[in-house]
Amino acid sequence: MEQSTKFASRKRHLIAGNWKMNGLLEDAWQFIDALGDNPAPDHVEVALMPPFTLLHPMAEPLRQKDVRLGAQSVYFEKSGAFTGSVSAMMLRDIGCHYVILGHSERRDIIGESNNIVHSKLDAAWNAGLEPILCIGEHLEERKTGKTNAVLAEQLSVLEAASADASLTVAYEPVWAIGTGLTATPEQVTETHAFIHSELARMGHDCRVLYGGSVKPDNTAALMVCPGVEGALVGGASLQAESFNQIIQAAASVATGE
Ligand code: PEP
Repeated sequence: MEQSTKFASRKRHLIAGNWKMNGLLEDAWQFIDALGDNPAPDHVEVALMPPFTLLHPMAEPLRQKDVRLGAQSVYFEKSGAFTGSVSAMMLRDIGCHYVILGHSERRDIIGESNNIVHSKLDAAWNAGLEPILCIGEHLEERKTGKTNAVLAEQLSVLEAASADASLTVAYEPVWAIGTGLTATPEQVTETHAFIHSELARMGHDCRVLYGGSVKPDNTAALMVCPGVEGALVGGASLQAESFNQIIQAAASVATGE
């Protein structure tokens, strides 16, 4: 089952919206009402990661629109005395397909280490979720030539993972998240090539998304970069209008129209 999920999703690019800590019920209903049809469902998959509070209410309306549901994090224990935490099986139970792991906001603000990300990956796989593993360098690290070393270290959590495990990786340069700055096509192409080569060295062949200030007007230029197979979108996913435009731009690239 894991394997069929992997290859079924691989042929399509993924546009995934990460709402972060935003959105009340009213916002969810407005968003769903305004969310247009995916113009190229054979080429582009759409997913949304609202906050925990909106996962259950949004699950069925999103399913009806063929939008996959994902969570923004998970706790690695299965159950028990872990006040405030949500397990991978709980996410699966309410219809999540994806879970974002290793987002830089969790690494930098909450202090999530690679070891914790590793434990969360295992928990996600055991529950049948597909992790979207976020990796990315800080500006200082890029400026001092440490980008590849940082990415290799963050990817090392996959070293012992099964090659069949369903997985998506998102390259998100930290300096591009929420800043309006995006990596140049050259930086994206070069970095994605490095990420794919590291993944291949570890026996993984999975989709690699780009994330970091993806907007309707830069989507096409980012999606045509070799090795880019979709986008993880933060701010621009909050409004259905801009999210629709990003999906349309990605669909145009994917279908070559
Ligand atoms: C993100 O949070 O993953 C992200 C890429 O945010 P933004 O699009 O707002 O930069």
